[in-house]
Amino acid sequence: MFDVVTGGAGFIGSHLVDTLVAQGNEVLVIDSLCSGRRETIARHIDSCKGRFVQKDLLGDGWQDSIRGADRLFHLAADPDVRQSAVNPDPTMQNNIMATYRVLEAMRQHGVPELVFTSTSTVYGDAAVIPTPESYTPLEPISVYGASKLACEALISAYCHSFGMKAWTFRFANIIGSRSGHGVITDFILKLRKDPAELEILGDGKQTKSYLEVHECVAAMLFAVGKARGTVNTFNIGSEDWIDVKSIAEIVAEEMHLTGTRFRFTGGDRGWVGDVPKMQLSIDRLKALRWKPQTGSRESVRIAVRDMLAEQQHGVS
Ligand code: NAD
Repeated sequence: MFDVVTGGAGFIGSHLVDTLVAQGNEVLVIDSLCSGRRETIARHIDSCKGRFVQKDLLGDGWQDSIRGADRLFHLAADPDVRQSAVNPDPTMQNNIMATYRVLEAMRQHGVPELVFTSTSTVYGDAAVIPTPESYTPLEPISVYGASKLACEALISAYCHSFGMKAWTFRFANIIGSRSGHGVITDFILKLRKDPAELEILGDGKQTKSYLEVHECVAAMLFAVGKARGTVNTFNIGSEDWIDVKSIAEIVAEEMHLTGTRFRFTGGDRGWVGDVPKMQLSIDRLKALRWKPQTGSRESVRIAVRDMLAEQQHGVS
């Protein structure tokens, strides 16, 4: 099996690459390293189990390398919800334009299968929680969410027009080592600077579903092996949720800090495009007999430990 992974030097992508290499697949990573890091995949490149093309999907010079691939996992994106409200252009380019270019390259080189990483933010402020894949209206409230929904629409059109198959995964919050963004990274960085006081965006009551990255990768590969429709859409997340203040407490605890004061910026949302509550229904995945082994609280604790260990010992 020849797999291409765009964004394979990033957080989730590099964990996916680990698993694909371990399965004995031929793996090609395409990543610009705009936020990804070569060291996350270095051991696969050095041992010749993986190949790496450092290119921006918005440029040229990578398209020929995907010829002959069986599947393309498209993870490269600008994943920053907050920044998408400050400056929408990188989100538009790296998400919508890059996905269009990936689809075009797949069409021209006959790559038949696409796995795409979408997001809970396509649901916007959903009125039904846990939110199922069939939820409508899909009304994103962030530019990031809108860009991913646009990608989903493009992917559907390409599958139906050009005989391709796709798996779209709408993730809850995915957490773990090698992550360079998100609430846990934010708290660790802030607490390293000032262990006495932690700024928490919003009122700390935002309550969401979190899933550890290894479980996320396992869920994706499981679903790809089971569902064979033209466009297969699945939510991936844990079956419960945790509030932001509790995450702050776990981070402080794992950093062995006592007496840290929490300072809340206030309001029920941390930033423009944030939602106060998010949990996804994973009944569709469960019907295929996949179930997460960890809940949100345990996922957070594992992720914090792995992230702190990584800062001390480097990428493992
Ligand atoms: P990440 O930033 O760690 O990884 C993205 C990778 O894409 C990086 O290595 C970056 O260098 C690369 N990249 C970005 N733009 C590129 C371009 N134009 N050309 C080539 N490479 C480019 O992010 P992540 O958290 O690992 O997210 C992976 C995917 O999962 C993204 O599509 C993201 O939107 C999606 N997702 C993540 C989460 C989460 O909780 N982490 C939740 C929902 C969806």
